[in-house]
Amino acid sequence: MAAYEFVDHEYDVVVVGAGGSGLRAALGAAQQGLKVACVTKVFPTRSHTVAAQGGISASLGNMGEDDWKWHMYDTVKGSDWLGDQDAIEYLVREAPKAVYELEHWGVPFSRTEDGKIYQRAFGGMTRNFGEGPVQRTCAAADRTGHAILHTLYGQSVRREVKFFVEYFALDLIMQDGACTGVTAWQLDNGQLHRFRAKLVILATGGYGRAYFSATSAHTCTGDGNAMVLRAGLPLQDMEFVQFHPTGIYGAGCLITEGARGEGGYLTNSEGERFMERYAPSAKDLASRDVVSRSMTIEIREGRGVGPNKDHIFLHLDHLDPKTLHARLPGISESAKIFAGVDVTKAPIPVLPTVHYNMGGIPTNYHGEVLTKVGDNADTVVPGLMAVGEAACVSVHGANRLGSNSLTDLVVFGRAAGLRAGEVVDKAAPVPAAPAGATDAHLARLDRFRHASGGTPTAKLRDDMQRAMQSDAAVFRTGKTLDEGVAKLRAIHAAGEDIKTTDRGLIWNTDLVETLEYDNLIDQALVTIESAANRKESRGAHAREDYPDRDDAEWMKHTLAWKRPGQGVAIDYRPVHEYTMSSDIDYIKPKARVY
Ligand SMILES: Cc1cc2nc3c(=O)[nH]c(=O)nc-3n(C[C@H](O)[C@H](O)[C@H](O)COP(=O)(O)OP(=O)(O)OC[C@H]3O[C@@H](n4cnc5c(N)ncnc54)[C@H](O)[C@@H]3O)c2cc1C
Repeated sequence: MAAYEFVDHEYDVVVVGAGGSGLRAALGAAQQGLKVACVTKVFPTRSHTVAAQGGISASLGNMGEDDWKWHMYDTVKGSDWLGDQDAIEYLVREAPKAVYELEHWGVPFSRTEDGKIYQRAFGGMTRNFGEGPVQRTCAAADRTGHAILHTLYGQSVRREVKFFVEYFALDLIMQDGACTGVTAWQLDNGQLHRFRAKLVILATGGYGRAYFSATSAHTCTGDGNAMVLRAGLPLQDMEFVQFHPTGIYGAGCLITEGARGEGGYLTNSEGERFMERYAPSAKDLASRDVVSRSMTIEIREGRGVGPNKDHIFLHLDHLDPKTLHARLPGISESAKIFAGVDVTKAPIPVLPTVHYNMGGIPTNYHGEVLTKVGDNADTVVPGLMAVGEAACVSVHGANRLGSNSLTDLVVFGRAAGLRAGEVVDKAAPVPAAPAGATDAHLARLDRFRHASGGTPTAKLRDDMQRAMQSDAAVFRTGKTLDEGVAKLRAIHAAGEDIKTTDRGLIWNTDLVETLEYDNLIDQALVTIESAANRKESRGAHAREDYPDRDDAEWMKHTLAWKRPGQGVAIDYRPVHEYTMSSDIDYIKPKARVY
């Protein structure tokens, strides 16, 4: 192995990731007077949060009456009762505060006539426990994530968070079951760094790129999730992958659900507004799992549009062009560029596309990472937190409602910052890192840097993405899942023969992509094995061979470990069937009515 040397850093808190959740956590920890570093592989404002279009949910009640209890009910129902209700209560109660905080920091929200924050309708968001749609999603036109990310970055700089930009985090430094730091590779000069810290907060986002067609950025490779697996800790509920109903056909780019919130609707080849049949009450604004499945059934039954009858139309052409210009300018432009469609005149061709990972690193609602020790599945891992899409709090359960992720980022980013203030002792020394604690990190880096097999990374990645797309899809069966497990195990094993060509350490994108692929394949394997294991249908996990939700057997979170040389090991964690306060009772499971 080549000789590697680390540059050492000492911080109270190191946040890995500078998307909405990472920035909010970094800012929050800095507000507590802690010395904070933020390590990020892309420039902060290029994180995937920048692409969030539709908005951020909070029961402000600016467009009609609203109540956090209604928001809670919708989120629990949307989660198909897999969400932890204490965490959901925390999310919806803190949401208005978090949105006003963003407003005061400068997020340029769209406004109502009387100057309040504009709110639009989104799927699954209802008034009075399911009575009818409510306008709960706060929006800055269709560029809400962009506005939030830029504002949070400015505020973090103001609070003197120290940024390490284009540093690729490699692995967690673990000692006696506690996290004491993280190692990283500086991409522009090849230097390796060891960040020693009293607390590491992972905010590394989702892993949409395990699939062939995804709305997420190429950088969404779930690096933090894979670091957690390599540290011998479990991931939770990885079988739940959300397909967004309206990715642009062919390109995968997102057309926000806000488009349907503003009055857009879907049609099949017969020109029928088919959602009225599947979800007579919520129609085109049913939750995403329901709309994606309905579209897939229409296509399968021969009512898709286009020459191959393999997609669906989204109509905005009946809406006032002024509304489109004011409320949906970004997606009007995307439709023009990626589908050649003028939305004022023609429908947009769309298809369900991988969009969000409900699963991730298990945490409590303070952001603290959990693992199972003996019978206690809520054992806190000292020194480690996770927030954002990387985390599984779990507020989204088996299916996330649109616009609840941005809320999740800022509410739990803030919670993690507050908790950091409580658990980090400013006066204590930063833990040391004995050389042995990072040997495996260097061995992995070195192995890929000098990999001289016969199969390029791009080939393995393509095989993985296609297998996930076909076998862990909107609809699943035991047969396709078992085939998928076999394929992914084989692809994983073929990694022994991986080939890289650039042996340098400066701007070595070949090596970056290989490390990312290695992170993705572990998560793909855990995802499909967890899916094959769950023998019921719940939320985004729709099995044709087990079409019903089975609360008696499956009202539990999946925990999945990846043991070196032994494949994936599965166990469970109880769903929190209780709320955080006595203000609201546990919402009991009901059959799903749309
Ligand atoms: C197109 C699109 C539109 C969306 N629209 C909405 C919406 O309207 N409303 C809503 O609620 N949700 C929406 N979502 C979902 C939501 O935007 C995401 O879930 C959320 O932004 C994820 O934020 P995050 O902070 O967890 O991570 P990200 O924003 O993905 O950021 C991840 C960060 O981690 C860093 N990182 C990752 N790996 C490493 C590594 N190895 N080393 C160093 N740094 C690393 C990256 O540099 C980056 O800074 C949308 C998602 C997409 C894809």
